[in-house]
Amino acid sequence: MKILIINAGSSSLKYQFMESDGGEVFARGLCERIGIDGRLTHKVPGREDVKQDIPMPTHGEAIQAVLDIMVDPEKGVIRSTDEIAAVGHRVLHGGMAFTESCIIDEKCIEAIRKCIPLGPLHNPANLMGIEACQKIMPTTPQVAVFDTAFHMTMPPRAYIYAIPYEYYEKDDVRRYGFHGTSHRYVSARAIDMLGNPEHSRVICCHLGNGSSLSAVVDGKCVDTTMGLGPLAGFPMGTRSGDVDATILEYLMGRYGYDIKEMLNILNKKSGVLGISGVSSDFRDLDEAAANGNERAQLALDKFAYEVRKFIGAYASAMGGVDAIVFTAGVGENSTDMREHICQGLEYMGVKMDAEKNRVRGREVDVSAPDSRVRIFIIPTNEELMIAMDTAALCR
Ligand code: ADP
Repeated sequence: MKILIINAGSSSLKYQFMESDGGEVFARGLCERIGIDGRLTHKVPGREDVKQDIPMPTHGEAIQAVLDIMVDPEKGVIRSTDEIAAVGHRVLHGGMAFTESCIIDEKCIEAIRKCIPLGPLHNPANLMGIEACQKIMPTTPQVAVFDTAFHMTMPPRAYIYAIPYEYYEKDDVRRYGFHGTSHRYVSARAIDMLGNPEHSRVICCHLGNGSSLSAVVDGKCVDTTMGLGPLAGFPMGTRSGDVDATILEYLMGRYGYDIKEMLNILNKKSGVLGISGVSSDFRDLDEAAANGNERAQLALDKFAYEVRKFIGAYASAMGGVDAIVFTAGVGENSTDMREHICQGLEYMGVKMDAEKNRVRGREVDVSAPDSRVRIFIIPTNEELMIAMDTAALCR
């Protein structure tokens, strides 16, 4: 089935048009500066990229611009929008209401709206994308695929926070986790690469701008590093990961920050950027560290150290581990970071083949022949997962 995938942000909208069987991508692109002026970048494999300034006061005009260019006789890839069998939307927060993807109807929209307090930045934008598509393509089926859904199999001991229980009961405060579509895709691939054993324990390391780990037993998530929101876990590009809440009170008192300013620091100015003062991009950090920048080196060391600690914790949580997966920008591309993380894990049977590890962006087993734990690099494909879910629900 030919599926249009929409990932709507507050001022941007990413799209991909692809075949759900086999994953061929016909076109992809990005609308930027929605609500400001509007710019469309449209990419078709084998052709030159198209960039156009198109007024986009709302997400409606952005979706219309995407459909217009898709059916354009020169730049397009289809003759009519009827060729779009269904639309799959990436939605950030499904709260406790969604354990899997679902067809979008009034009830589903209402439930996504109810999750706005949990995903205040993303859910309203996701809804704008959904409503714009409904308006322009009223007869095309639409599906919502949630970043949180895969993690809903976590047991209570993993998702409960040790604060008064009433906040869980009354206010839905619990660990939700994110990047679920990526964790679901790579863990399923890893189990396949393990030969589909009856019992499997996989640790997925999604290391990108935003990063999270998941522990997956027999294909089901049992723990993950992100929490109620995507700030939790280990340090990321610009996010702090877990911090002692005392730090908030201390810095707010010293500098007079309000909670918004404090959270902005933890979300946008922390992580490896905050430690290094150089960049949130691991390529820049590698270069700076190679040139003797000690704080860049410290940021890289901190990142690897915290990921390694979570790997140890998840191996304990699962009573062992059969495979560790590296995925997303850093996980797929950084030979050094993968090696750095696995250093010191030999005690638990993790032995990397340094030569095999010299690869980028390919699905490959980089463990040494005598490693008890397999180490896989698996390029993530969230879009394919969304397309497959959408097709499955619309057939
Ligand atoms: P997002 O979370 O935005 O989806 P990605 O998964 O695309 O992020 O990861 C982006 C990050 O991947 C970049 O910030 C960069 O740090 C990292 N990255 C990409 N290529 C390399 C590379 N060759 N070596 C090290 N890091 C890389």
